Amino acid sequence: MQTTYVSKVTFVGDSRSGKTSIIKRYQENLFSRDTQTTIGVDFTIKEIDASPPEQPSSLKMQIWDTAGQEKFSPIIRLYFKSSYAVVIVFDLTNPYSFEHIINWIRSVREEYEPEMYIVVGNKSDLKLKRAVSKQYVHSTLATIKPTFEYKYIETSAKKDYNISQLFDLIIRDINEKTKTTPPSIKNELSLKKVNLIPDTTATSYPTFSKPNCCSIQ
Ligand code: GDP
Ligand code: MG
Repeated sequence: MQTTYVSKVTFVGDSRSGKTSIIKRYQENLFSRDTQTTIGVDFTIKEIDASPPEQPSSLKMQIWDTAGQEKFSPIIRLYFKSSYAVVIVFDLTNPYSFEHIINWIRSVREEYEPEMYIVVGNKSDLKLKRAVSKQYVHSTLATIKPTFEYKYIETSAKKDYNISQLFDLIIRDINEKTKTTPPSIKNELSLKKVNLIPDTTATSYPTFSKPNCCSIQ
């Protein structure tokens, strides 16, 4: 029987940086100019078969979208827990949104250390308004102590630039980790170590009473 594993991916970052747009572009290949600010925490589930050919399992990626204005609320912090990857989004045209990611990183790290961090500079299509250089991103993140390991990618949800590449970074990382797990211990426990949760436990996530909060594909 095929085993399905769930990897949780949590998006954080300032409000209006484009988190919801990135997820929407990836899931539905849609972009809207007028988006509504996410209230509280939404989560959307995208099912992706990311399993390497030799492994009889499939992977579901569970994408959690959060609301920027609640960055330091205990509720949001709770959602970092058990994330395989935390994706920290800032707006390349808004230097404050980049400065704030240091707080985001600190906030996540106080609670939990995920398998991977991805820093995303979004709105790369607005070339003339760009206010944060790639070099500045790397030199600033290099000052974080203890050493902060991350991958960096620039995206445009509007132009569909690097969106699937962003999610591929996570899928590739999971595949690498599951591939290197020795076959004899390729079981639930070893996968749990890399925060891949067998699908049966996925239902234990909190559910939300807000109507229409979750789109499940
Ligand atoms: P969130 O609060 O982080 O979820 O941000 P949203 O996804 O709601 O996006 C905030 C605003 O930025 C909306 O008006 C989007 O249309 C716009 N936006 C999002 N991504 C891009 C992008 O890649 N390029 C441009 N030009 N605008 C974007
Ligand atoms: Mg949003």
